[in-house]
Amino acid sequence: MVGSDERTPRDPAGFEDRLKAWRRHLHAHPELSYEERETTDYVEGELWAMGLEPTRFRLGTGLWCDVPAAAGAAATDVVALRADIDALAMSEDSGEPFASRVEGVSHSCGHDGHTAMLLGAAELLVADPPPRPVRLIFQPAEETMPGGAKECVAEGVVEGVDRILALHCDPHRVVGEVGVTAGPITSSNAKIGITVRSDGGHTARPHETQDTVFALAQIITGVTAAVDRRIDPRSGTVLTWASVRAGGTAPNVIPDSGQLWGTLRSADRDVWATVEPLVREAAERVGALYGVRTEVEYVQGVPPVVNDDECAELAARAVASVLGPGGVGPAVQSSGGEDFAWYTEEIPGVYLRLGVWDGESGETDLHHPGFVLDERALPHGAHILDAFARTDRPTG
Ligand SMILES: [Zn+2]
Ligand SMILES: [Zn+2]
Repeated sequence: MVGSDERTPRDPAGFEDRLKAWRRHLHAHPELSYEERETTDYVEGELWAMGLEPTRFRLGTGLWCDVPAAAGAAATDVVALRADIDALAMSEDSGEPFASRVEGVSHSCGHDGHTAMLLGAAELLVADPPPRPVRLIFQPAEETMPGGAKECVAEGVVEGVDRILALHCDPHRVVGEVGVTAGPITSSNAKIGITVRSDGGHTARPHETQDTVFALAQIITGVTAAVDRRIDPRSGTVLTWASVRAGGTAPNVIPDSGQLWGTLRSADRDVWATVEPLVREAAERVGALYGVRTEVEYVQGVPPVVNDDECAELAARAVASVLGPGGVGPAVQSSGGEDFAWYTEEIPGVYLRLGVWDGESGETDLHHPGFVLDERALPHGAHILDAFARTDRPTG
């Protein structure tokens, strides 16, 4: 996919063009989670061309790469910078000349931009070696549950790392502003599947069998009510059913099975960690009341990303050094999930929202076919990543 003719020479003056070229190439060639082979090859090639020595993750896609500190550097703490590299299973309708060339796959979450910005940071760090070692993480499969970050952490990618930063495109924030906040910034999620089984039978005699559809209806409301009544509403916890299926088209047959699917999200890390038994108990008890056999599949997703206080402070300084003090904006906790949380479960970290809206055209959203990003944000992101790696902790 990537010919050497597509590589650009290392010309500091052409930095912004290079960021665009990387981003547009990745944008046109999106790959799904865990399938980012050509993306990994491309990033690997660019890093080798910068004189770095990347290492691929054992899980098959994605890689990490250390940038050594400047000779004689005094700092020994290690900073990691992370980009996610995967695309989404959806078509693109952005109208861009470099739109996805792959039917049904697109970079509608901006991970192409994240990857390009981290390549840009790599170039800046190589050109002017940082005061401490820096680890670059090009992580696969953010868009899955529980997310590729979990496997990267299991491979040891943050062992020996002191703090970590990631940026995410924010299409509701104007270019030139970055949202920085301490504390929770994303929410947890879990996927819930409930299957009920009965002997099935004639709708004339539900008392002689177990009424699958009625039991499902009771579970839909009963489990949701149990979560509502027994979890602190201030935790921002919401259980929503997305799918309910049972029976065929016959109006007079009680089906022998039925199934629900939904998600449970919470803004509170403790709820994420502890709510599963309540869901299981509620589903099984309500099902038992109507005689059906109930099986619960609870797929634990990511915890919330909780930004570390000191990392947020360091990030605010890094952003201000690039965009001025006015570039540091507020950020509110999102109800979306983000697998960056697997890093912040291990080490202090901070997750920033990078303004990519041009301030004029109609706002688009992430995961929308019309998502666009203003490429003026690319140098902002690259320089912020670079600046964070150079920002010292307060002494004393
Ligand atoms: Zn996404
Ligand atoms: Zn994303």
